[in-house]
Amino acid sequence: MKTSNLKIKKNYFEKIKKFQKYNEAYYNKSDPIVDDAIYDSLKNEILELEKTYSFLNSKESPSNYVGYKPSKNFKKVKHKIPMLSLNNAFNKDDLINFEKKIINFLNFKNTFEIEYSAEPKIDGISASLFYKEGKFVHGISRGDGVEGEDITANLSTINDIPKILKGKNIPTEIDIRGEVFIKNTDFEKLKEKFANPRNAASGSLRQKDPQKTKKIPLNFIAYTFGFSKNLNVKTQNDFLKNLKNWGFKINKFNRIIKGVDDLIKTHSEIEDKRKEIDFDIDGIVYKINDLVLQKRLGFIANAPRWAIAHKFSSNKSISEILKIEIQVGRTGALTPVAKIKPVNIGGVLVSNATLHNEDEIERKDIRIGDVVTVERAGDVIPRVISVNTKKRDINSKKFDFPKKCPSCGSSTVKEYNKTTKKFDAVRRCINDGYGCEKIAIEKIKHFVSKEAFNIDGFGKKIVENFWTLKIIRYPQDIFNLDYQKISNLEGWGKLSVSNLKYSIEQKKNIPFSKFIYALGIRHIGQENAKLISKVLKNSENFFNLGKKNNFNELLNIDGIGDTQIKSIKEFFSSKKNLTVLSELKKNLNITSEKKILKNGILNEKTFMFTGKLINISRAEAKSLVEKNSGKIVSNVNNKLDYLIVGDKPTNRKLNEAKNLNINIISQIEFFKMLNIKDS
Ligand code: NAD
Repeated sequence: MKTSNLKIKKNYFEKIKKFQKYNEAYYNKSDPIVDDAIYDSLKNEILELEKTYSFLNSKESPSNYVGYKPSKNFKKVKHKIPMLSLNNAFNKDDLINFEKKIINFLNFKNTFEIEYSAEPKIDGISASLFYKEGKFVHGISRGDGVEGEDITANLSTINDIPKILKGKNIPTEIDIRGEVFIKNTDFEKLKEKFANPRNAASGSLRQKDPQKTKKIPLNFIAYTFGFSKNLNVKTQNDFLKNLKNWGFKINKFNRIIKGVDDLIKTHSEIEDKRKEIDFDIDGIVYKINDLVLQKRLGFIANAPRWAIAHKFSSNKSISEILKIEIQVGRTGALTPVAKIKPVNIGGVLVSNATLHNEDEIERKDIRIGDVVTVERAGDVIPRVISVNTKKRDINSKKFDFPKKCPSCGSSTVKEYNKTTKKFDAVRRCINDGYGCEKIAIEKIKHFVSKEAFNIDGFGKKIVENFWTLKIIRYPQDIFNLDYQKISNLEGWGKLSVSNLKYSIEQKKNIPFSKFIYALGIRHIGQENAKLISKVLKNSENFFNLGKKNNFNELLNIDGIGDTQIKSIKEFFSSKKNLTVLSELKKNLNITSEKKILKNGILNEKTFMFTGKLINISRAEAKSLVEKNSGKIVSNVNNKLDYLIVGDKPTNRKLNEAKNLNINIISQIEFFKMLNIKDS
């Protein structure tokens, strides 16, 4: 009994520690290390454990704590009245429950109609502004709810914050509370630095140097008060009117409503308007309008009993298609991408959503200007899932999918699949690769990618940049770079050039299977490349495939079928590809496959990775598995023995593995299996 309690405690405190780590990254550094969904599920796991085992408790638990302790960069100030969080509702039942609890607490009859102030929940960071005799004295961040940071100087740079209140009815003293946020359009300029506008607002507001804050266009909308002296208002709505008269901005979508059905209606009406608002809202806050009732209801743990945040879905949202762009991929596939009005889905600002292919556009009749529902689940690319045709402009026209490649102007085709007896849903550029700019760039990106040549410091941006500057056109150019020219480019110092040179030199030794994979032959992924390399044994045999025009020996490989053979034949039939091969041959030392340990430590065990690993690339980790006779699989199913979880794992994979009772292990545990000391 005691040992199991100890285990439960250990597990609980490990979760608390992780929770603190996430909070510090999010609230203190404005740089989240996990998705909101992962954060929320950890928070729920902690709360569930506390509910089940009454002996579990921690000062740092989400049931006792909001946000994160104030940063050492600022003076700490205690809030006269704590600044708390809000409880959440996700559906009608949650709202019915919320209302029921209030009626019971107040001992009112069931027929009592509660009046609510419904206010969009701005996804920014809250601040408390203290005014004395109508003059702004100081401003504090929420911090951990009890104590915040003195950020007066930074708040003073925000134009929306009046330094002196105007109008009548000004209380002697008051803490005005509201949200500091950044507009989506302004976030566009900062999106390289921050995950979403909320983190951008928080990072900008809590700069050590107020001059830096001043440069960022921050906004403020007021919505409540903390401590007050001689405040003369009876309802939240009156208070909001006063705020406006005193010179604050308030939300134009605030309204007064009654009854759960109206709450639901308001929620969906405002969710629809989300795309018209140039800042993030992530739900609607319903507050009891009567301030006397608010006072009677008071607080539970770290949220008021008189308010609830009805959140928008964390994986779907509504937006509008601004334009449809056609991207050309490495294999020539034309992929339509909808550029949408930016919308926050689960903590990530989404401005692109895939439309998959021509058939999908046709089937759903997706058009520019359409109001659409966009879904973002886990780390899957956001996609348009439906169109609201009722909201369609009468002048809207069907989308005309281009029949010529937008990159090189070549014809495009939809291939006929003999097995399914159907035409492919995807339209492709018929160019054999290096003659189409977009395909060529994607091919080179693939060539240098982690799973292929894995050239350190040669990322996608560099490929694009070197292409634009005409430094590279073909993969072989990578091994004959003009380093003198590169060292004269902006952003390239002596050290970075010599590092690049070093990484490239190192990768001139390449295992045979990686070489095949790097060529980016359609239908030849990592697994097929390995199969081919095993059978052909060395690169000479591979180069000879083209010369002999004999591909039959590949037919005996289990896993290589007609589709792959056809694709390899096509590859060798292109003169450009043959030149690439012979040039690469001159520059590279292609090593034959190393013998894989038979009966190694991981013999007959299957593995899959999710999330980012520390100090080791995914490719290297996979090769460790294989070297030790383990197998990598690409789906979570009964055949999987171990799911190795790194940072920011895909939730879907985790849940599937949990449901199938698959061993879920960390990178450290994986290393232990291999007797590797954690680095
Ligand atoms: P919250 O932001 O969801 O809700 C409470 C806040 O809403 C209040 O503090 C206030 O600032 C704000 N608000 C906006 N408009 C308002 C209005 N009209 N009236 C009253 N309040 C209004 O709560 P929280 O506890 O600050 O943060 C939780 C959220 O942050 C979750 O969505 C969570 O996923 C995310 N989070 C993510 C990570 C991560 O690592 N990804 C870490 C911490 C928190």
